[in-house]
Amino acid sequence: MSTKGIARPRVGEKRPPGGVDGRCPAQTPGATAEQDTAHTRLILTNARILTMDAALTEHDPGWIAIEGDRIAALGSGTPPDGEHLDMGGDLIMPGMVNPHCHMPMTLFRGLAEDVDDRLFRYILPLERALVTADVVEVGTALAALELIRGGVTTVADMYYFEDRVGDVIDAAGLRGVIGQTLADFAAPDHSTMDDGFARLNDLAARFADHPRITASAAPHAPYSTGLDVMARVAEWSAAHPDLPVQMHLAETSDELAWAEKTYGCTTVEIADRAGILTPRLVAAHLLYPTEADMDLLSERGVHAAHNARANGKAGRGIAPVCALRARGINVGLATDGPMSGNILDLFSQLAPASMFQKIAGGSRKPLPCRDVIRMATTEGAAALGMADRIGSLEPGKQADLIRISLADPRLHPIYDVYSMLTFATMPTDVRATMVAGRWLMEDRHVSTLDAEKVLSDALQVARRFNARIVEIDATAT
Ligand SMILES: [Zn+2]
Repeated sequence: MSTKGIARPRVGEKRPPGGVDGRCPAQTPGATAEQDTAHTRLILTNARILTMDAALTEHDPGWIAIEGDRIAALGSGTPPDGEHLDMGGDLIMPGMVNPHCHMPMTLFRGLAEDVDDRLFRYILPLERALVTADVVEVGTALAALELIRGGVTTVADMYYFEDRVGDVIDAAGLRGVIGQTLADFAAPDHSTMDDGFARLNDLAARFADHPRITASAAPHAPYSTGLDVMARVAEWSAAHPDLPVQMHLAETSDELAWAEKTYGCTTVEIADRAGILTPRLVAAHLLYPTEADMDLLSERGVHAAHNARANGKAGRGIAPVCALRARGINVGLATDGPMSGNILDLFSQLAPASMFQKIAGGSRKPLPCRDVIRMATTEGAAALGMADRIGSLEPGKQADLIRISLADPRLHPIYDVYSMLTFATMPTDVRATMVAGRWLMEDRHVSTLDAEKVLSDALQVARRFNARIVEIDATAT
């Protein structure tokens, strides 16, 4: 069933230097280019460009020149010569970065939504019995389709059979971090921790030179790995300093109780004892850090992935996002898996992320809209160690961008574009998605995946899951 529904990309396709006909387009007098535009090939014109650079520069109307997989130049005024593509006044902004996801779990989306023990009653038995490498591929393709259509260009995943997750991300044209889960509960892809580390090493070797895919270690959580395994991951991470580590941390009250009972300290302190708190770690959730924990996380340079919708759905409270950011901790905005947060685009996270902080602070002021958009772009990129490559539109960075239609009356008037994005824009407003200079979607049509086939494969797996659920329920009654 390899690569079902996936149109293989022309990965690594190189465009010739120069303009449409190979000649070097001349710099247009009067254009406020930020870098030499020689060898420009594709120029997106007549756009409102939100760069998300450090100064939050906007170009309106602006143009952006793309050469190969990179941004060659951008500016306002008259665009330089080259192959022009008129954006019709649409908004161009960096593709969004989702730093915490479990893509294959699209297949569990909405399952037993209101059942308290759904994890043990349904999810874990289904994973053990039915989650294979092929099933992972089907679920990942469904997620990839949704991410592209929702304006996410980079995603960090942690699950099982991550080599297959990497294959699908590759074929879909997305940029991704693929995390081999390590946990002491029965996993579908390894039976011992040694097997898990062997898979991790294979993953790192296989994707070592991939331009868009980065391997990662993903110890599930402190309570599901323990001090020794976390220490082993820390050792592995020190030997692989370019690869991120992903872990759920300070996510549940049970986790805090486990830490106190087992070690007499906080779960963050245990992680530190294992040596896993480094600038390479993306800590998902961080719902319950103490003040001292937050100081420690800041000191160690740990990054956070905030999952507002998933946290809200679980009734777990509000993560101290403002307190983390006030300490200089970088916080990316994420979705968590589709079982926890249901949908994988970041537009759906923006408003809840902002609202929760305002509720907690009892004021409109906490977490302003521009900070929310920073979290969905530059801070997510920094969390994954990719701040120099993605997250903002600047010369030399990767051409990862999205085109947002401003046609819907719901978006107007636009007094503040960050407010419009946070509270009014929907994933369906994304008209086109580009990663590494390649359009993955234009006019809502995804070119790298066969949407009909992806959905049909997913529904076929869901039917198998459903049959097992019926059996589980019959056994229980
Ligand atoms: Zn998660």
